[in-house]
Amino acid sequence: MTSMIRRPQLFVPVILLVILLVYPLAASDTKYQQSVLILCFLFAIMASGWNLISGLAGYVSLGHSVYLGIGMYTGAILGKAWGVDPMYLAPLGAAMAAIVAIGIGAIVLRTRSHAFVIITIAVLLSFQLLAANLKQLTGGSEGIIVQAPSWAAEFGNLPYYYIFLAILVLTVTLSAFVMSSRLGAGLVAIRNDEGKAGSIGINTTVYKVTAYALSAIPFGAAGAVYGQYLSFVNPLGAFAILTSVYLVLAALIGGRGTLWGPVIGGFVVAIANEMATNASGGISARVLIMGIVLILTVMFLPAGLLPTLSAVAARRRSRGAAVKFIDQTAIADSSSEVDTSVIAARSQHRSGSGDAILEVRDLVKTFGGVNAVDGVSLTVQRGSITGLIGPNGSGKTTLFNCMTGTFSPTSGRVLLDGRDITGEKVWTRAHDGLGRTFQITRLFKSMTVLDNLVAPLDRTSAGQMVAGRYSGEEVERAREVLTFMGLQEFEKQNTAALSFGQQKLVELAQVLMLRPSIILLDEPASGINPTLIDKLAAVIRKLNEAGTTVLIVEHNIPLVLGLCDTVNVLAGGQILVSGTPQEIRNDPRVIEAYLGPDHMLEVPNA
Ligand code: ADP
Ligand code: MG
Repeated sequence: MTSMIRRPQLFVPVILLVILLVYPLAASDTKYQQSVLILCFLFAIMASGWNLISGLAGYVSLGHSVYLGIGMYTGAILGKAWGVDPMYLAPLGAAMAAIVAIGIGAIVLRTRSHAFVIITIAVLLSFQLLAANLKQLTGGSEGIIVQAPSWAAEFGNLPYYYIFLAILVLTVTLSAFVMSSRLGAGLVAIRNDEGKAGSIGINTTVYKVTAYALSAIPFGAAGAVYGQYLSFVNPLGAFAILTSVYLVLAALIGGRGTLWGPVIGGFVVAIANEMATNASGGISARVLIMGIVLILTVMFLPAGLLPTLSAVAARRRSRGAAVKFIDQTAIADSSSEVDTSVIAARSQHRSGSGDAILEVRDLVKTFGGVNAVDGVSLTVQRGSITGLIGPNGSGKTTLFNCMTGTFSPTSGRVLLDGRDITGEKVWTRAHDGLGRTFQITRLFKSMTVLDNLVAPLDRTSAGQMVAGRYSGEEVERAREVLTFMGLQEFEKQNTAALSFGQQKLVELAQVLMLRPSIILLDEPASGINPTLIDKLAAVIRKLNEAGTTVLIVEHNIPLVLGLCDTVNVLAGGQILVSGTPQEIRNDPRVIEAYLGPDHMLEVPNA
């Protein structure tokens, strides 16, 4: 366990924190240094907050300083109304930023990649406009003057220094917590492959909006303090695009997705900015210098300082150590030692619709005028192994995508356990017992085999999000499932190091973690070694014996005819024929449609 949970090295950060705490008191006349360090803290706070949505989940926001502005205005407006120093309203700034972020996040997180980036900028500019026009509330483009607190004359910036430092410590603590939680694991899964994350039960909408709201909190808190520190709050200063660019630059330089990268980057950017200002004396030269730094970072340090340095250190350490060779077909034959209850399906709720576990009725899916699936009705009997075969492009994968909720069908219904699930989300269907693997394996590439296995979620709840990544029984269960599949020795491997066939088995193991009552397998045997095909067939049989229904798409006809109870043949988006393997084998229409008139199906005497 301990090797898995990479505890952050706390020694160095604690020493640095003590130095920062003592420094202004111990050294004499540190006014200037304090003001530079305050900017360092501010950028580290913002870059760390941004990292929660953009580093972990991969949704790059270029307008995140909007939440700094919201904190600044919250502090200034409420401070004035209540006669309180805005800096003490930091918790309210944080709350306001989070609330606004939930509303905005629920809308903007529906878009992805470039569209998302553009929209985040638009949001920032909209708030700038709003602040300039809501004169009653914000004082318009003139802004709001914030009085200096009464202690200012005596202590200078010292209280600000400590408040920003405290917010930074809280922000890093929040980051560390998120990164070690299931929420963090889910966000990294979303960054790797959002569609896949949904298919293993991760409610991507809730996860993304939560991360977005959490990421706004440090901005809101810091904003309330920053407004008073600056002594005025106006639209151009509070909602500045340049602030967003700087904080993104900070996270990129330090290393996004890491705990300390954004903090280091925040210090680097603030100090570089200060040096550039001193050297040039003008804002335009400063922007030019920072632009060049940004270009150089993206070109030469795409992963950021911290990941690059730790990669170099890791290479140093492993130098001389033998490279572990992974046998492309290696599979331990340990499944007989494992109780099949490990892979048993969850208990079923039969709901009186005969024995159909999965059913589609008159399903049509159209892509720009082409009917990929053209009126398919199909029943999968509970407890069966059902086959779905057909030439390439006949609509098999599209049918799977409609069944699992990846696509919504143009018309027609999908029923699971007799219940209409046509409108249900992908993750809800996964929670309801529908599992699937992909034609091209979609494992999370940045994660180990074990991390891939503990990623699936069987429900969406706050308790589960805040739970530690490895806190439940999942790790134990993951090891049992891996052992059942003969994959136990690959636990710590990165999935990219495995052969194609091994990856397919890992993906199946991943789906099994949720104990699905039915699994859809999309070409599980294609492109894999014959040794692994035998293993796969044995696993499918065992799964079925343990109560799991299987629907399998496969081009390996002998495998399908040997395994299945019923086989459906799809051609041109329509069911050509359904029947027992014996009937399919002898049906001339199948031979014609599938292989052309000159072929015979070679079938083992099953
Ligand atoms: P199969 O899995 O049987 O090989 P598919 O379901 O992948 O077939 O594809 C069926 C048809 O639908 C093909 O003509 C394919 O080009 C088309 N198709 C599949 N997915 C999409 C998509 N996302 N956009 C447009 N066309 C698609
Ligand atoms: Mg396909």
